[in-house]
Amino acid sequence: MIRFDQVQDALLGEFGPQHWWPADDVFEIIVGALLVQRTAWRNVEAAIAHLKTAGLLDPDVLRRTGVEAIEQCIKSTGFFRTKAGRLKNLAACIVKHGGTESLASLSTPEMRSLLLQVDGVGPETADAILLYAFNRPVVVIDEYLRRLARRLTPDRATIPDNRIRAWVAGTIDDVVGLNELHALVIAHGKKSCGRVPDCPQCAIRSMCGTGRTALEA
Ligand code: SF4
Repeated sequence: MIRFDQVQDALLGEFGPQHWWPADDVFEIIVGALLVQRTAWRNVEAAIAHLKTAGLLDPDVLRRTGVEAIEQCIKSTGFFRTKAGRLKNLAACIVKHGGTESLASLSTPEMRSLLLQVDGVGPETADAILLYAFNRPVVVIDEYLRRLARRLTPDRATIPDNRIRAWVAGTIDDVVGLNELHALVIAHGKKSCGRVPDCPQCAIRSMCGTGRTALEA
């Protein structure tokens, strides 16, 4: 089976370090992880800049702010009305549990379970928060990684998330490596391995079942 550390090395050679997650503090990462759902990062950056200017990038301030004021700040993101309410819920959850520093004392399964109880926080968002905000060694599984994992295999069959997680963690299990991998897989998905793969231009085509087949055709 192809090793994900080798995939990562090849992608690192192509794209270089990605320096994720760009943010000033833990709460900003958490907010960004929720806002980036179905939204391009540049639009998240605009929303975060507005939240910052309005003084709302604080969990206690955000939970007490009216939803309309939050909506105004995050209009650049998709589903901003839904996300405004979800940001308030997430902020309220953080405050209820003593703030981000107190949350950091929870075990990874405890924190994941708590995050998943917040409306709008699914497994991908929870795992991104765990990895980038709290430096926990978790594999963030998104559509880019699912698609890549499927295409890397000879039969291109769908692979359950728990098997992808085990596959990645077999060779990358540290925070720094998992941080870089998630960012690199997204860069790779956007450049080469989108819905229609551009295999001739791909840095990992020699490792990839789909890429080899395309080049042999
Ligand atoms: S060779 Fe093609 S299918 Fe395989 S990872 Fe690269 S772009 Fe994706």
